[in-house]
Amino acid sequence: MSQEQIQIYNTLTRKKEVFEPQTPGFVGMYVCGPTVYGDAHLGHAKSYTTFDVVVRYLRYKGWKVRYVQNITDVGHLTDDADEGEDKLAKQSRIERLEPMEVAEKYTNRYFEDMDRLGLLRPDITPRASGHIPEQIAMIETLIAKGHAYEAGGNVYFDVTSDPNYGQLSGRRLDEAESGTRVVTAGDKRHPADFALWKKADDSHLMKWPSPWGVGYPGWHIECSAMSTKYLGENFDIHGGGLENKFPHHECEIAQSTCAHGTDHAHPFVRYWMHNNMVTLEGQKMGKSLGNAISLRQFYDGSHKLLSRAWDPQVIRFFLLQSHYRSTTDFSETALQAAESGFANLRTYLMDLHKAAASDTKTGEALPLDAIRAETEEAMNDDFNTAQAIARLFTRIKNARAACNSGQIPANLSEFLSWATDFLDTVLGILPDLSEREQANTEIIDGLMPLILDLRREARQSKNWAVADQIREKLTELGISVQDSKTGSDWSL
Ligand code: ZN
Repeated sequence: MSQEQIQIYNTLTRKKEVFEPQTPGFVGMYVCGPTVYGDAHLGHAKSYTTFDVVVRYLRYKGWKVRYVQNITDVGHLTDDADEGEDKLAKQSRIERLEPMEVAEKYTNRYFEDMDRLGLLRPDITPRASGHIPEQIAMIETLIAKGHAYEAGGNVYFDVTSDPNYGQLSGRRLDEAESGTRVVTAGDKRHPADFALWKKADDSHLMKWPSPWGVGYPGWHIECSAMSTKYLGENFDIHGGGLENKFPHHECEIAQSTCAHGTDHAHPFVRYWMHNNMVTLEGQKMGKSLGNAISLRQFYDGSHKLLSRAWDPQVIRFFLLQSHYRSTTDFSETALQAAESGFANLRTYLMDLHKAAASDTKTGEALPLDAIRAETEEAMNDDFNTAQAIARLFTRIKNARAACNSGQIPANLSEFLSWATDFLDTVLGILPDLSEREQANTEIIDGLMPLILDLRREARQSKNWAVADQIREKLTELGISVQDSKTGSDWSL
């Protein structure tokens, strides 16, 4: 394995650090997954695409990566102060489904949406509801070690027992105490203490027996329990959205370090990575703000803020064109620019493929080592996909210009094979280059007006059988026809 150093911005130390996993050759990585009570929106897409590329690049560089991403299907309350109704329970009431039906439905939809976005599936996707014993065991350890206490069927983490509490977010306990956000619940010793276990009343749908009575786990404990189970007490990378830094990740650190007694040489997590958010014309995008466009709405163009449907690959290309630690400001104009950039990439690559088949390659050879190095250098710098894409794009464009002027580089095939592999394997944005795909699109575009004309003539002469037959046949082929007063339109 030959790898130049990869620098990762570590949120915990607030600086870029050389990436050195604790076991040579192996990377253990945990990313906080979705709370499955609704569809994933563009903000989720940015987060999971970010970590998808991290996994892909580490693998490309020769590391064996175990990628764990949990599914939160219990314990996520409506606000961060451990109060309110469980989000899943609330949704199950709205949809009149069992909570587990809601969880299963949105877990399936989450994976469908991410598959279309070209994300690799995590190696393990543990469900919080499937790891109740592990969470109870960890809470028992925390109580035994004096870091947690029971109060009336609830169990809270005692933040004053952890001198390092606040190390990730930089928040201090005295600030939390005077803060207006945290309301002291009656049985907490300190306002910043957070729930590890919550007592369930009779109306609560998702509950389990525990040493403290019937209840359910707090949100934070699942990630500590499941990361330990699948990656061990110390692992390499923990990722998530910036909004998870506090309280969620701060609480994870407190729980895991206090339960396992991890020290400085063997920290719970070596590198904390946080992606920034997606904004909509400068405004934060989020479900609670009512301006979150789900991926499904992008795919079918059904949201009122969208004028049409967008190709998942274009969305991915758009997201990777900004660094994961910068905010991505979304607008349809920006998506349109990404779309034409992606179309250009396709055209350039198609042209290069044609040129590579030529027998007369008399042009100057491309500096393959330098091209590879400059692209990887961008990725090594805290996974700067924006720069990697820009550099690669320029090289592809220049190679095509050389071909167009009759100077086909002698090693064009070699360059093309490396570049398409990098776009495909690392970035996941290789356009479909088949001639067939191109030809199919052109043929369909040419034939459809003709077919719709024939159907219109059949309808005008009241030949309903033929008109219906055409429509049915098209439906079978996956083409839907929409009739309106002004005529008929079609879509795939
Ligand atoms: Zn988590």
